Amino acid sequence: MRVKDSGDQYTYANLVQRLFSNPGIVMKYIALGFLLFSLHATANPKLYVFDCGSAHLDSLEMFNIKPEESDVRELFIPCYVIEHDAGRLFWDGGLPATVVGNEPPEDAPGPVMRYERWIIDQLADMGLSPADITYAAYSHLHFDHAGAANQLAENTVIMQQAEWDTAFEEGHEFVDPTLFAGLKSANVKLIEGDYDVFGDGSVRLISTPGHTPGHQSLLVMLENTGPVMLSGDLYHTRANRELRRVPTFNYNAEQTLQSMDKMDALLAETGATLWIGHDKALADTLKKAPAYYD
Ligand SMILES: [Zn+2]
Repeated sequence: MRVKDSGDQYTYANLVQRLFSNPGIVMKYIALGFLLFSLHATANPKLYVFDCGSAHLDSLEMFNIKPEESDVRELFIPCYVIEHDAGRLFWDGGLPATVVGNEPPEDAPGPVMRYERWIIDQLADMGLSPADITYAAYSHLHFDHAGAANQLAENTVIMQQAEWDTAFEEGHEFVDPTLFAGLKSANVKLIEGDYDVFGDGSVRLISTPGHTPGHQSLLVMLENTGPVMLSGDLYHTRANRELRRVPTFNYNAEQTLQSMDKMDALLAETGATLWIGHDKALADTLKKAPAYYD
């Protein structure tokens, strides 16, 4: 077989012979192999969990759970950072900054929201500024997931096309477009379906629409902890998962059930542990940044 047809006769056999008669070239290939292997071997992501607020509710009825079906009345509101050799992904933006420091009266009507320390300040505590974040992505754009979106609009924002298409439409419950108005001029990378963030399979956005048109979850392959699936709002509470109950305000109930099926299949396939983002009982057991899971 001829590789090249000018000058020397570079036949395939000739080439192999030259390669192995030149130890320098062989060493280079071995070195390249080690480099690629070590790059792969060190690309183990780290997962940081941040406390981005809480919401106290009188009941879980909006999530389609009857009072006697769950005694949960407090939801945790998380933010996450996933650190990878190829960059950092910020995942879910917590409550708006306006909630920070609020001390609502105990008898305030509706959900009572609290938020101790603004996520941007928490990142600063770790020596990180928004410029140190490579990508930002949100499970969806409800106000308790997009609170810091404007502050992270300088980064590449990865979003499902379907979420983007309705982001600035009027009349979507729990959506406050002023929280992410900065995205209009941001570098928004629009995707459709699942997406491998760093290209090595270790951090994957999983399309789970239904709660909102372009809702997504996040699968992180952690070396020591094992694979972890961050639910977004595919489920708000354990009861929603156990009873397969779709919140009354979801965008599309049928689509939500299909996404729950997809999630079950993916959890079985990967052996991933599901972390329901708003599950306060779970959150109480998780270590928070600057501690991390790897
Ligand atoms: Zn939501």
